[in-house]
Amino acid sequence: MAEHKDVLISIRDLTKRFAAPGRKKAVRAVDGVSLDIYRGEALGLVGESGCGKTTLGRCILRLIEPSGGRIEYDGQVLFDKEEGIRAEMLPFRRKMQIIFQNPAASLDPRTTVGESIGEALDIHRLVKGREERQQRIEALMTEVGLDPADAGRYPGAFSGGQQQRVGIARALAVEPEFIVCDEPISSLDVSIQSQIINTLEDLKQQKGLTYLFIAHDLSVVRHISDRIGVMYLGRLVELGDSVSLTARPLHPYTRALLSAVPLPDPEKNRLRERNPMQGEPPSPVDPPSGCAFHPRCPMATEKCRQETPPLMEREPGRFAACHMLSLPKEGRDSAT
Ligand code: SF4
Repeated sequence: MAEHKDVLISIRDLTKRFAAPGRKKAVRAVDGVSLDIYRGEALGLVGESGCGKTTLGRCILRLIEPSGGRIEYDGQVLFDKEEGIRAEMLPFRRKMQIIFQNPAASLDPRTTVGESIGEALDIHRLVKGREERQQRIEALMTEVGLDPADAGRYPGAFSGGQQQRVGIARALAVEPEFIVCDEPISSLDVSIQSQIINTLEDLKQQKGLTYLFIAHDLSVVRHISDRIGVMYLGRLVELGDSVSLTARPLHPYTRALLSAVPLPDPEKNRLRERNPMQGEPPSPVDPPSGCAFHPRCPMATEKCRQETPPLMEREPGRFAACHMLSLPKEGRDSAT
């Protein structure tokens, strides 16, 4: 766990709405998320496809413009809808970087990997002269586990894992403090996923980086994250330290996500409690009333259909949005 509470990024009531083609109503991709990201931590963000986690990551970097709310980076306001603040982002681009899901799509096939890394150095004028530039490119390649002798090769000559290492080197070139890792291993072979995770963990330790690590798979996120946020249909439904959240999830959706993660021991897998989730996630264009999870929740009551539960601190450092957690234990049991 992060041992200190030095807030690097503060998000308040962040929303992002997209126009839906042919529909009057907008898609509520991110719906009033408030969150602090502490300096030096890895905050995992999980949820099914379409829950808004990638949109949230991109809004923080202002790669897409939020519709409402406020974002602060190290005490400086990047965006505030109410106050009409939209900060010039170029000075922050050095501090805030992103590693994309699909490394092949994020690299130009006609640019050598060395040049690709060098471009990031050029944009921010971080090196003087060709020699220093070349030395820096080679050092970055070594840091991420690539052979610097391959700097003159094109992305097509690299495996998926190596291409992602190039993506990591490009992000590191500008010496950032904060990196959004947007599903960085989901397009890679299972056999190399853990190698990339290990590289990201090592780099975080060496450089004191802060990560927002986005993934749909809780088993991936729990190993790298100090804390985990769980999103459902644009909202944060649970937030807490990764050890207690995965050992003792509070929200029924988190429980269902965890029960879908296979255990290494087949016998334990067979015996453990299952929390089946019914159906597919509803459309964010027309989300269900009250708690958006109610059509799939085995514990749903009439109150759940009518009132949206707020995200509240249930135990020190552990937050969840569920009406059932406001009931005494006996009440929860009788409602199931
Ligand atoms: Fe389930 Fe109700 Fe809790 Fe939503 S508020 S997660 S429907 S019990």
